[in-house]
Amino acid sequence: MPRHVRNGEQCRPSREGVLHGRPPGGHNAAMSTELLYLRDAYQREVDAKVVEVEEGRVALDRTVFYPTGGGQPHDLGVLRFADAQPVVVTEVTKAGPVVWHTIDGAAPDVGAPVAGSIDWERRHQLMRTHTALHVLGGIIWHEWRRPATGGNMKPLEARMDFEFDPLPDGFKEEVERRTNEALAADHPIRVEFLPRDTAVEDEDLIRTKVNLIPESVSEIRVVDIVGLDKQADGGTHVASTAEVGAIRVIKTESKGKGNKRLRIQVVDGPT
Ligand SMILES: [Zn+2]
Repeated sequence: MPRHVRNGEQCRPSREGVLHGRPPGGHNAAMSTELLYLRDAYQREVDAKVVEVEEGRVALDRTVFYPTGGGQPHDLGVLRFADAQPVVVTEVTKAGPVVWHTIDGAAPDVGAPVAGSIDWERRHQLMRTHTALHVLGGIIWHEWRRPATGGNMKPLEARMDFEFDPLPDGFKEEVERRTNEALAADHPIRVEFLPRDTAVEDEDLIRTKVNLIPESVSEIRVVDIVGLDKQADGGTHVASTAEVGAIRVIKTESKGKGNKRLRIQVVDGPT
């Protein structure tokens, strides 16, 4: 029996990540946020409207800001309300269909227009790191048939846990070499939205436990690193593996029987 993925922070299909951001029925559209980053991870700026204001934070009708989830931390950036000075966005969270932007400054009224832009350097580093983790997971599955059990990332740094006991001899060097070969081979990355019925019959998606996604989700977002890894995922990724650069496996740790942790850094690739 495959062990169930652990809950929480791992890079795995989550209820939040694969949804479109519209509630079923759509009749409360004013209180949902269109999640632009799900369709275009390269969009850095947005013109939007404030739909709700709470102490220190605003919800928008659409956003390019990624909220913490699926092992990927939130974006940073700024919001500009009308002619006021830009305010810094310090945290981004998602509650149901709404994305909240915590701001370091005065909030405007509901209905106010807003222009937002993300800290692109940080976001692009997170995109490279997130894609690197999927490639690493794909390589470990294809070569050793071990599933990932969890993971988490910061810009250009990440960890991922696998069911090994013990690690094979020379594993650290071999997984780094194989992953960097795969990255350099410049595999394209495609984001698709599949009907749930189609997704649950896809062999690659079955491996990554697509069946755990609630049946209420009718459309599933799939990130396909063509030929390497395909899974339901709500994160932001680069367009090709060469854009990641390369990885270094910094260390391996034992986190108990049958659970080994890899710590990696993402670095610039060979030019
Ligand atoms: Zn992921």
